[in-house]
Amino acid sequence: MGNVAVPKTVPVDNNERLPQLIRCCLPKTTNVAKHSNNGRPNNSLRFTTQLTSTTYHRNEPRLNRLSNMVCDADPIAYINAIVRLFALVRAFAMAALCLIPGLLPTTVIKAQTVLTSDRIDGTPVIDRLDASDLATGQVHRFWFRVSDNAIGQAWYVPVIVMKGAKPGHRLLLTAGIHGDELNGIDVIHRLVGKIDLARLSGTIVAVPGLNTPGLLHHTRAFTPGDGADGANLNRLMPGDPASNDRAVRYAGRLWSQVLRPNADTAIDLHTQSRGTAYPMYVFADSARARAIGELIGPDMIKIDPGVAGSIETEMLKSGVPAITLELERPEMFDRRVIGRAVDGIQRVMVDLKMLPGGSAPPRKVTPYIGDTLARVGTSRGGFATLLVDLGDSVAKGQEVATIADPFGRIVERLTAPEAGRVSTIATDPLRDPGDTVMRILYTAHSTSSDTPPSP
Ligand SMILES: [Zn+2]
Repeated sequence: MGNVAVPKTVPVDNNERLPQLIRCCLPKTTNVAKHSNNGRPNNSLRFTTQLTSTTYHRNEPRLNRLSNMVCDADPIAYINAIVRLFALVRAFAMAALCLIPGLLPTTVIKAQTVLTSDRIDGTPVIDRLDASDLATGQVHRFWFRVSDNAIGQAWYVPVIVMKGAKPGHRLLLTAGIHGDELNGIDVIHRLVGKIDLARLSGTIVAVPGLNTPGLLHHTRAFTPGDGADGANLNRLMPGDPASNDRAVRYAGRLWSQVLRPNADTAIDLHTQSRGTAYPMYVFADSARARAIGELIGPDMIKIDPGVAGSIETEMLKSGVPAITLELERPEMFDRRVIGRAVDGIQRVMVDLKMLPGGSAPPRKVTPYIGDTLARVGTSRGGFATLLVDLGDSVAKGQEVATIADPFGRIVERLTAPEAGRVSTIATDPLRDPGDTVMRILYTAHSTSSDTPPSP
């Protein structure tokens, strides 16, 4: 909503002298009040409220910020009010046209996608996405309204749809289901800026930030407010939109309204958690997932049965090849590993015939592949000094870390229980008794019971 124009200032002494047309155009929530000057009346009336064009909730305007607008009571103000009335009538007419099928703009929905009447900073808010509805050769951006919170507002996630000029595969990219794992968000941002829509066959559906409360609180867990349950959304898929548990409900809405209906292949982007680090690392639980992982070109691939409730595993259960791609450390944008991931995803897209052959950079790394993790943990508390780096090969029995007491005296020497590659390290040296210091990936042709904290 705009402001009343200000041709000149004419003091008035009460609300009754405001032009009636101006009153008609004002929202009911607009304050019209006399300002006092050291307790004495001020003869100039001032409007102190300004509405933005942002609509947050089902057509309920939100008062945004205060400004001081001087209102005038002369004939020019009447003319301005009439102009505003015409604008209002025009807006209603446009809204009515949007309700008539066939007159919708090309980016608006014809079938399964549910577009609400809301917009945030001009970006449409959706209740469900079906990318097949959208116009080709365009990038579409939406806010998906996942669920409401306890104070009558909503949690939204950003959704980007790149619709290629030609039909083809649907690649789902997700990031930030753990709110402190950020590299994947920039992978999506960079990929969207890099892909030429004219050369793209098929559709990229990307959600750069699944866990809105976690991102706001810089937490791995879903932390929607005081008394937060600390739920791990990547153990709750496919969720249940009708659940009494807010985290299960949130997961269910993501899964049923956006993720599963728009995926032929899925890549879920993560990093290690706070205080720890991975190399560039893929979790894969099928032959096709392993092939996708090898195209990505990470340092390591762990072949395992997956983790129930994760996007990767639940996608696979529903027939969609999927991997979890771990991008090293949390709480940062690491340009080097982000660039590797952007290149690797383009290789997957070439394989899926979404991009022309030869259009992706060649793979530079041949990944080490294992199926089991061996944990190296402390029995004493203290400061851990690592003697090996991420990705290093270690021999069984090799000393890989020491634990020192506060005086610097070594109180424990830790050795590798198996030969393999260092796949996780603690970046925080302060260790409690029983803490993990590192993990070693190796091949045992069996399933490990040592489940890592990610995906
Ligand atoms: Zn994660």
